[in-house]
Amino acid sequence: MATIFWFRRDLRVQDHPALNQAIVSAKQSDSRVFAVVSARDYQDQAELSPGRRESLLQSWRELNASLGDALTVLAEPIAGIKSIAQREGVTEVHVSAAYDTRSVSFMKEARSELESDGLKLVVGAGNYAVAPGKVRKPDGTPYRVYTPFYKGWSELAWNPPVALEPGARWVRASEHLGFDSSEYGSEFAGVTTQSPSIRAGEAYALRTLQRFIDRGALAGYQDDRNRADLSGTSHLSHALAHGEIHPRTILARLGDSAGEVTFAKEIAWREFYADVLWHNPNSLTEYLEPRFAKMRYDDGTELGETRLRAWKEGRTGYPMVDAGMRQLLAEGWMHNRVRMIVASFLVKDLHLEWQRGADWFETWLTDFDPASNAHGWQWTAGCGTDASPYYRVFNPILQGLKFDPNGDYVRKYLPELRHISGTAVHEPWLSIGFDSAGYPLPIVDHVTERNESLARLEELKSL
Ligand SMILES: Cc1cc2nc3c(=O)[nH]c(=O)nc-3n(C[C@H](O)[C@H](O)[C@H](O)COP(=O)(O)OP(=O)(O)OC[C@H]3O[C@@H](n4cnc5c(N)ncnc54)[C@H](O)[C@@H]3O)c2cc1C
Repeated sequence: MATIFWFRRDLRVQDHPALNQAIVSAKQSDSRVFAVVSARDYQDQAELSPGRRESLLQSWRELNASLGDALTVLAEPIAGIKSIAQREGVTEVHVSAAYDTRSVSFMKEARSELESDGLKLVVGAGNYAVAPGKVRKPDGTPYRVYTPFYKGWSELAWNPPVALEPGARWVRASEHLGFDSSEYGSEFAGVTTQSPSIRAGEAYALRTLQRFIDRGALAGYQDDRNRADLSGTSHLSHALAHGEIHPRTILARLGDSAGEVTFAKEIAWREFYADVLWHNPNSLTEYLEPRFAKMRYDDGTELGETRLRAWKEGRTGYPMVDAGMRQLLAEGWMHNRVRMIVASFLVKDLHLEWQRGADWFETWLTDFDPASNAHGWQWTAGCGTDASPYYRVFNPILQGLKFDPNGDYVRKYLPELRHISGTAVHEPWLSIGFDSAGYPLPIVDHVTERNESLARLEELKSL
């Protein structure tokens, strides 16, 4: 007898309720356990950047080591699982619950395919302290505004972290791989190189949390988290997105100081957006506020496409925007404040639809999370949940002066501007004798485009 555990975006062994449930069930039936993963679970987007691929492979590599070489990479998970099941007498396939739009529909397909082969798909608890769909208004309807959601969320209790259930009989991949190698992905076996800039895996996630606590960052988190030039945030987003750490493992380490409460509120933003996406599955790609779909955008025009390219390459001539976009290309990560600045710029200065930016982020962000990405974009574009109204247009220069007050962040990612000291780097064209060293002048005038944006909003109101 055998059981399969299908790892998806839950690449860890500690504090893993669904995995523990699978192990308990396998022990009861004296079954061996197969562990499988598939790149298919990450490839919503046709193309993953080299950084995203590398971080995923590293995470798998670490998980494989934790399981004692038991991880099998499947090219096509449903076909691969069926094949193992037929050969090994598997009756149950265990998986963590997933709530994002594409996972929900893929899991539906998987359930029906596996059931047609007589296999039971057992879905265990997922990677949220409170599962999406659970926090409700007193009348039972879902929240669309964060603050009351947070109040409801924080009043619900969640279980404390749990350790890995002992006694699983993992089947080493070498014991069964190769009986039909065409069904198995080759990516995993072939990977030998490791990029020094990408660090991933459960052990690294736990160390990152410990370091964040040890360096006292939580004490100033409520102030420093907005500063692009400081390392004021945890950098745990990649670990949360890959499920290398469960959010309640993090929450269990937090007390009630101002910094710790603010940090817990950020974890709650992740849960809020997962909840909003769960209730509004189309909002992964469509406007949460549908009237914004009727707005006039410049997508598809020659000018619009040229500007989109400049934005992607970090060559808009606005240093704070360009530094963020270059950080994304170099590190697969971008500071939250800067994500808001570049997103506002794309939508309100370049008049392009938010989905174009969200797609680019999906290709490059190693912490890509369907709900946080779609709703981070929609919030900034003014068409999403609560707070940020469309007419709030970020000024990229003032944002730079406020959140990179010495210009260090810009100089770090824009080598062309390193010769400009202090805050002058946020408006390099004003420096006397400015030698651009190939850095472009602004591709648009912010004040003009802000007015244009507001005019388009007025048009929308009159439709
Ligand atoms: C346009 C846009 C796109 C975004 N896309 C993503 C994405 O694909 N994946 C992703 O994880 N986050 C996304 N975010 C949210 C946020 O930028 C990142 O979570 C954060 O920068 C990660 O850095 P950190 O782990 O150091 O954050 P910390 O400040 O240390 O926060 C701790 C954790 O809380 C969560 N969190 C923090 N801020 C937010 C937020 N605003 N929304 C949702 N969760 C949050 C994250 O899981 C984060 O790891 C996006 C934000 C914007 C504005």
